[in-house]
Amino acid sequence: MYCSSCGTANDANNFRCVQCGTIIQSQNSQGYGQPYQNVQQWPEASKADTALIFAVLGWVVCAVLSIVAIPMARAEIAAIERGDRNPAKLSTAKAAFWIAAIQLGLFVFGIIIAILVVVVAGVSRV
Ligand SMILES: [Zn+2]
Repeated sequence: MYCSSCGTANDANNFRCVQCGTIIQSQNSQGYGQPYQNVQQWPEASKADTALIFAVLGWVVCAVLSIVAIPMARAEIAAIERGDRNPAKLSTAKAAFWIAAIQLGLFVFGIIIAILVVVVAGVSRV
């Protein structure tokens, strides 16, 4: 077998060229002279995309629910303070407000992290 890089004749069992060290055959003895081609064959199906879609959907749906909940909770707190609603519900309305506010804060924080990840991934690829 001849090296595709320098043309040196090598023993058929050699993994690397004895002259220049270029890989002249893959370990499963396929693709002679074309190192690293067809070496890795990943299965087509991957749940990585589905997992990412679910993660992003969960993230967005939670933020949307929080955006609805915050003004609703604030309106209820204001109504209770005016005396228009049952005061026993004040702690419930306050809990709703803070849970939604924290969720929205995490959502915004997550957007910042996601942007940073995309930027870092883009920079490291160059
Ligand atoms: Zn060589």
